[in-house]
Amino acid sequence: MEEKILKLCGKKHVKLGIMGGTFNPIHFGHLVTAEEALQQFELDKVIFIPTGSPPHKTSGILASPEDRYLMSVIATASNPDFFVSRIEIDRQRTSYTIDTLKELKNIFGNRATLYFITGADAILEILTWKASGEIMQYCRFIAATRPGYDIKKIEDLKEKILSNYDFINSGDRQHIYLMEIPALAISSTDIRRRIKENSPIKYLLPESVCNYLLKHGLYK
Ligand code: ATP
Ligand code: MG
Repeated sequence: MEEKILKLCGKKHVKLGIMGGTFNPIHFGHLVTAEEALQQFELDKVIFIPTGSPPHKTSGILASPEDRYLMSVIATASNPDFFVSRIEIDRQRTSYTIDTLKELKNIFGNRATLYFITGADAILEILTWKASGEIMQYCRFIAATRPGYDIKKIEDLKEKILSNYDFINSGDRQHIYLMEIPALAISSTDIRRRIKENSPIKYLLPESVCNYLLKHGLYK
């Protein structure tokens, strides 16, 4: 699939957005963020990568990797620039972002520049990730913030990371970009809670995903 993406771009060098997440389930917050990154940073494609068994998340109901993968495919099917990768869900052991980035580097080599797209909450966790410094060698970061969000925390974090890693200082200092997106208070946690309580979830996620999870009795 990854090779196919390069072919579809029809270019020698491509800019790829990487949207990692549990997508438990995928919702409009994820889709808006990916679309904004695509437009604002002139990316060629965005690859959604659902996690297999995520190292951070243990609380709450986690749908199977296959269900989360399928919901991601359904949600992105109509967008010609969005793709979904099985790279993490096909991996048996706990998936770490660094392993995925290495694998993508193996596949794409120098033919692609990778932009890891995250929400503001996720970028702040970056320092707790396994090998966060190493991660910076494989990709740039696009951190999505909402209007009115206090970006000071991210700016501080950025300075801290940049001062810790010489290889970044010596070259392009812009390894972490901030991107403002329209306010969206949607989260998978809230959607799961709503399903449990029989509250409406309409308009928070694509209708096709909504139908899929109801049909399969997910998060009940
Ligand atoms: P959960 O509530 O289970 O943590 P989530 O809604 O945060 O789920 P994830 O799959 O954890 O979704 O997130 C994947 C990525 O999408 C993360 O980088 C996260 O910061 C980002 N993200 C999630 N929701 C939004 C949103 N409403 N707007 C912008 N980014 C978001
Ligand atoms: Mg989250």
